Amino acid sequence: MRSTQRCEGMNSYMKGYLKSGVKLFELIPALDRSLLRLRNKVVEEDFKSNNSSHVLTSSLRKLEDHAGTMFTDSVFEHVRNEIDGIGDLITSRTMVFGSSRVYFTSSYNDNKQEIEYTTVYYPDENNPRMECSCKLFECEGIPCCHIFNVMKHERMNEIPSSLLMKRWTKSAKSDMQISVHGDNVPNEAIEFARYGDLNCFGSKLCFLASKTKEGTDILNREFIRLEPILSDFWKQEKEKIVTPEHCSNIIT
Ligand SMILES: [Zn+2]
Repeated sequence: MRSTQRCEGMNSYMKGYLKSGVKLFELIPALDRSLLRLRNKVVEEDFKSNNSSHVLTSSLRKLEDHAGTMFTDSVFEHVRNEIDGIGDLITSRTMVFGSSRVYFTSSYNDNKQEIEYTTVYYPDENNPRMECSCKLFECEGIPCCHIFNVMKHERMNEIPSSLLMKRWTKSAKSDMQISVHGDNVPNEAIEFARYGDLNCFGSKLCFLASKTKEGTDILNREFIRLEPILSDFWKQEKEKIVTPEHCSNIIT
């Protein structure tokens, strides 16, 4: 369902740039423009996410503040809802099993207390872990209110790294690397993947540089410096492909 929704969302976005009378040769530049806008929007949102701080509203300031620095803006809103959800929880009992501690919680609004959630805390100096029977973390990748409740009881100031799903964090993109595996991947596909990756990062640099005159000058200087170096690399690579040994034998 989600992949279909994403596809439909992209279709409706592209429709804004395409009209029924668009000629074939006009299509690609129009799609390029729409993608450029989209990438620019993503970069702008990343910039806002990385250079602004949230107004803290919950009573668990330290945990909320840490969540704000780790998660992207859109994910943070969901995480904050979970932190706010602690207000509705009642911790009925706790138990100790070996080195782990188990918390049983239910909802204040559930008068009959029919649903009880079990959250297990595994203390570990380097990597404390938690598991909850509601399975929100396993499904959505964000810690649930029951887990935040345990963090409160355990007097934690930060969310353990085991509960920070990489793809929802601000550092997800910066740590991303292209990895194309397999012997049968065509060179064109690898080049295309590299181009996409560089284009995305390049858009980010252009966006940041264009904000100031100094930034624009710095990036322009780097472009001028890098252009001949990269041209030389490409020229050498082309020569390798055009004049392999067996071709020179055929010519002679
Ligand atoms: Zn839970």
